[in-house]
Amino acid sequence: MDKKDIIKKIEELRIKNNAIILAHNYQIPEVQDIADFVGDSLDLSIKATKTKSDYVIFCGVDFMAESAKILNPKKKVIHPDIKAKCPMAAMVDAESLNYLKKDHPNAKVVSYINTTSSVKAVSDICCTSANGAKVVKSLRVKDVIFVPDRNLGLYIQRSIKDKNMVLWPGICPIHHNIKKEEILELKEKHPKAEVLVHPECQPEVIDIADYVFSTNGMVDYARESDVEEFIIGTEKDLCYRLKKENPGKTFYPLKSAVCPNMKKITLEKILNSLKTLEPKVKLPDEIMKKAGLPLQRMMEVGRGD
Ligand code: SF4
Repeated sequence: MDKKDIIKKIEELRIKNNAIILAHNYQIPEVQDIADFVGDSLDLSIKATKTKSDYVIFCGVDFMAESAKILNPKKKVIHPDIKAKCPMAAMVDAESLNYLKKDHPNAKVVSYINTTSSVKAVSDICCTSANGAKVVKSLRVKDVIFVPDRNLGLYIQRSIKDKNMVLWPGICPIHHNIKKEEILELKEKHPKAEVLVHPECQPEVIDIADYVFSTNGMVDYARESDVEEFIIGTEKDLCYRLKKENPGKTFYPLKSAVCPNMKKITLEKILNSLKTLEPKVKLPDEIMKKAGLPLQRMMEVGRGD
């Protein structure tokens, strides 16, 4: 089947099955184009709560599809490729986290949304890259265990001085490998461009940025700013969305910033999911209940961007 036929078939089946297609900002362009809605992981989960569709085809990595299911237990959430897993989320597990909790009995656990449902289930509250500082500040304790992204934890610490933060040694391999030299080289070629970077980047990259934003923060800032050129320090396919929404502006991606797991979802796999209505995200009831609490608490604190 050629691409045109696949898209036509997806359109037919999406209507027939009353399905919505949600795609993360880092998905390949053709998946972003076919999606009903493109956004960050929290956006997409919230979108899933508002849709009247029976099926949610979730184009992203494992923890995102799980969060969508936890926040929408009655919806059928389908993840077109279960092998699309986030390596950072896999860097912390519930058992090891429970050991660390024993060493810090008075601490609250903040888990980045990029964690598995079992880790969320033993956490007090979740956060996103946009509201991390707001969430940590909202806690009425001094000791905070932050998992799994050390770089995000270090960035949050910059604005919070009255907490003892215990940082888990996890990283996002994609953002951690963004080199300041690559950004400085682009800046030399495009001196008028502003540098926007994601807080999962290393501190030395954060230090040379004009602004530090979540992906949604970048989308909002690029739309509202009078600046016309931007160097984008996050996964490179966010630039596809930025260019599409701001045709008069120029965005320079970092060629090295590619998340291979985000690229596992293809049009063919979406079509297959719409034909079979599989693979559905299934989680034990107990985990769903326990992991839902920290997510709900985070929503009460608010987005932060
Ligand atoms: S970009 Fe990083 S945090 Fe996001 S899915 Fe890929 S590995 Fe995980």
